[in-house]
Amino acid sequence: MAVNQTVSPPDYAAFFEARIAALKAEGRYRYFIPLERLAGEFPKAIWHHPKGPRPVTVWCANDYLVQGQSQGVLTAMKASLDAHGAGAGGTRNISGTHQSIVQLEQDLADWHGKAAALVMTSGYVANWAALSTIARQLPHCIVFSDALNHSSMIEGLRHARVEKRIFKHNDASDLRRLLREAPPDCAKLIACESLYSMDGDQAPLADFVTLAREYGALLYLDEVHAVGLYGEAGAGVAAAQGVAEQVDILQGTLGKAIGQIGGYIAASESIVDFVRSYAPGFIFTTALPPHVAAGARASLAEIRAADTKREALHRKAAALRQSLLEQGIPLFPTPSHIIPVAVNDAELCRAISDALLEEYGVYVQPINYPTVPRGTERLRITVSPAHSPAMMQELTKALAEVMGRFGLAKAA
Ligand code: PLP
Repeated sequence: MAVNQTVSPPDYAAFFEARIAALKAEGRYRYFIPLERLAGEFPKAIWHHPKGPRPVTVWCANDYLVQGQSQGVLTAMKASLDAHGAGAGGTRNISGTHQSIVQLEQDLADWHGKAAALVMTSGYVANWAALSTIARQLPHCIVFSDALNHSSMIEGLRHARVEKRIFKHNDASDLRRLLREAPPDCAKLIACESLYSMDGDQAPLADFVTLAREYGALLYLDEVHAVGLYGEAGAGVAAAQGVAEQVDILQGTLGKAIGQIGGYIAASESIVDFVRSYAPGFIFTTALPPHVAAGARASLAEIRAADTKREALHRKAAALRQSLLEQGIPLFPTPSHIIPVAVNDAELCRAISDALLEEYGVYVQPINYPTVPRGTERLRITVSPAHSPAMMQELTKALAEVMGRFGLAKAA
């Protein structure tokens, strides 16, 4: 067929550049900070500044228990590399189901008190693959999704192409209203997080579990920011609230408190087998390598026995929150290990973060829309057992000074 020479193609470069310029104009263009993590020295790291390397203290990592640097974990990974080589060699279906991943799935199921677990390439993929597959295939399914659910859940549910009803964040009465309005005989899936990563607030899980039973719904719970940190043996917020058994599908990550990469669901045999058998996002991708699974297993074994580390983390988070409040630094009031400093403006958030990094060697990434709603921009601080009292004082001083400069910190 002849090509029509008179029609010129779109100006692709102009399109992409204009979209980037729009982000910059709004102050929410993402600048990445090239960091070199130093084994054994966390939270100290090297920032590869264009003018040369500079030491910084990291205050926004999700390696909450510093398991990414645990000697036991590193030893297990090195031994696995020596024994099994680098990659998995295939998808789970085609030669990639190695013994370490099978054992890891057994460990995860056992940790959460579920019959089975399924490991995927990331927490994002686990949410996307499991939610889209379950919601899409259940007959006449209506999904009830919390208004502040993570992008991975939203995208998974969007891909399911089923009816979706959004309930007000953490609001059990709004969820009840929506469940009551739905036809009693259709399949229902409630999807929420246990601990919201940007606000640090927890879902009323006992109420959600009751509603799920009352209205015949399945409950899908993202525990990505809670696993390792809450409940007995760090099994999560559902375990802490005594409702883990009633959660139908628990989803977690290996990438935060466990200190590796990967994600998973834990559920009944039939749900796990169903996702394993039908989810393209699980089936058509290379399995995690043996050394990552071995590292995750070693980390999980340590985490289950890490009450002292968990206590240190929560104690330090409470002390830091107190110290920031004493300096009149505005915080979103959420008692968890996450400390969100309220800035409420994208450009200011970027300017404060830049000043902290450039002048004080304090690294806290600004969090802007769409990660949080516009007008609620923030600095999301995470502390770890490795942050010392002196580091916490340095951070408080730097934040008070920089935020004061922008008229945002009032001495209490
Ligand atoms: N769920 C929530 C609530 C998250 O915050 C994230 C990532 O930050 C994910 C899922 C994705 O997990 P992962 O980083 O393992 O892909």
